[in-house]
Amino acid sequence: MYDAVIIGAGLAGIATALRLKKRGANVLVLEKNSHVGGKMNQHDIEGYRFDTGPSLFTMPELVNELYELFGEDFSHFYRYHQHNESCRYFFRDGQQISFFTDRTLLKEELSSKLGVEAASIEKYLEHSAQKYDAIGKVFLETAIHKKTEIPWKSVLSNLPVFFNSGLMTSLHQLNSKTLKNDKLVQIFNRYATYNGSDPYKASGILSMIPHLEQNAGTFFPNGGIYSIVKGLYQLALKNGVEFSFNETITNCSFNKGLYKIDANKAYQAKQLVCAIDHLSFYKNILKDQQLFQKYNKQERSTSALVFYWGINKNIDALGLHNIFFSEDYAQEFKDIFQAGSIPSDPTIYIHISSKLNQKDAPPDCENWFVMINVPAGVCLEQAQQDKIKALVLKRLEAALDTPITAHIAVEKVWTPKRIETDTGALHGALYGASSNKKFSALTRHPNFSKKYKNLYFCGGTVHPGGGIPLVLKSAQIVDKLIADVN
Ligand SMILES: Cc1cc2nc3c(=O)[nH]c(=O)nc-3n(C[C@H](O)[C@H](O)[C@H](O)COP(=O)(O)OP(=O)(O)OC[C@H]3O[C@@H](n4cnc5c(N)ncnc54)[C@H](O)[C@@H]3O)c2cc1C
Repeated sequence: MYDAVIIGAGLAGIATALRLKKRGANVLVLEKNSHVGGKMNQHDIEGYRFDTGPSLFTMPELVNELYELFGEDFSHFYRYHQHNESCRYFFRDGQQISFFTDRTLLKEELSSKLGVEAASIEKYLEHSAQKYDAIGKVFLETAIHKKTEIPWKSVLSNLPVFFNSGLMTSLHQLNSKTLKNDKLVQIFNRYATYNGSDPYKASGILSMIPHLEQNAGTFFPNGGIYSIVKGLYQLALKNGVEFSFNETITNCSFNKGLYKIDANKAYQAKQLVCAIDHLSFYKNILKDQQLFQKYNKQERSTSALVFYWGINKNIDALGLHNIFFSEDYAQEFKDIFQAGSIPSDPTIYIHISSKLNQKDAPPDCENWFVMINVPAGVCLEQAQQDKIKALVLKRLEAALDTPITAHIAVEKVWTPKRIETDTGALHGALYGASSNKKFSALTRHPNFSKKYKNLYFCGGTVHPGGGIPLVLKSAQIVDKLIADVN
């Protein structure tokens, strides 16, 4: 019998296991795959290494904190460094903008290429920091669905910033009003996609996201993103967290104060932590139709179509993170969220970790992670995949003015359906529910169950949200909730 069983060995499951272990709990993590990581996995194909999911890394201190808990030096497990260019943007008219995190370089870039006054960008990023400090911190660190957990004094003192945060306008409206330059607006609209949402609908409060990248810094691990979860797994093993792989949980029940969890065999635990998509959990494991239907009414965030291409040449025009914007950004989101179809002109994101970690590709070659946003649940037949691939290549060859198709040495593809099979994310939605409503942040699934005793939720589909930093915050919140009842 365990104090806690955690379902899912993604980043959230491992981070929560570490925190509970530190409090002396006897913890077991059950994972359906043969490896840790979930969305944060890696592929090795003929000398090319690809991170499967996340590529943007901010707030490394949240990872390092887990090592500090156990008195360990994180650098013995993984290493990273700061990167001075958060993204390289390519516009359809041929203009290219480097978004430097160094403020002087950024201001020079924007004033010389866009004729934008330095003060406007400075002000935007200052407001972004203020919103994050006043609202973000409290929101991200609190089980907001439990009144006794809310730091009311801090909430009340920050109410003026909250009401001035752009909450009731869309991110696009806020950006258009404050930035007054179409290209800058498009760049800052893109932050809504960091939680799989539509900048023309999501609240302007998301304008606090650039603070993390542009003010707090953009980082990248020397061993790729996978080294983050690999290091934490090693830390967990070293400190006695138990893992069992190839265990698909099919059922669980609560009886006389204990959970019975059915996988390859039956396990018992006092506390159960769901570290998988909460919708899959209600549908396939707890089989609670009522709760499934309640949360299934919420619109899903975007999914992705990802091409992993080993390119057998170097393309100097590209950096670590690159965006090739669509011509009509508003139409792209209408296609995704209103029509539920693949955008006819998608924005293309390319991440190339071998730009920094040369070992990730053979000499004079590059490992391209090429992603477009698509609706969750969209079915992609081979013919449609081929059509999108041809469109993406045509766009890239034109923008970079160089042949690419003939240089694809290896290829692997991740579709919404495969994302669902591989990670359990319902319909392949990357971040659970979308944040397309003004109060979406408040209606995300809580970190605890109001119906079932000793049942907790962490990970990218529940409060406070998806992405590496927020997933780590969810582990922190669950740990505190469990500590409070013990
Ligand atoms: C293509 C893509 C790009 C992304 N880009 C970024 C980015 O740039 N930056 C960023 O911060 N975030 C990004 N994300 C989001 C980020 O990857 C996730 O928010 C985060 O990794 C989620 O971690 P998790 O532990 O909550 O869930 P997961 O990683 O999904 O882990 C869940 C685990 O549970 C297991 N599981 C599921 N069902 C069962 C079951 N029935 N029984 C047993 N085990 C089960 C799964 O196999 C999996 O290992 C991206 C995600 C994707 C897919």
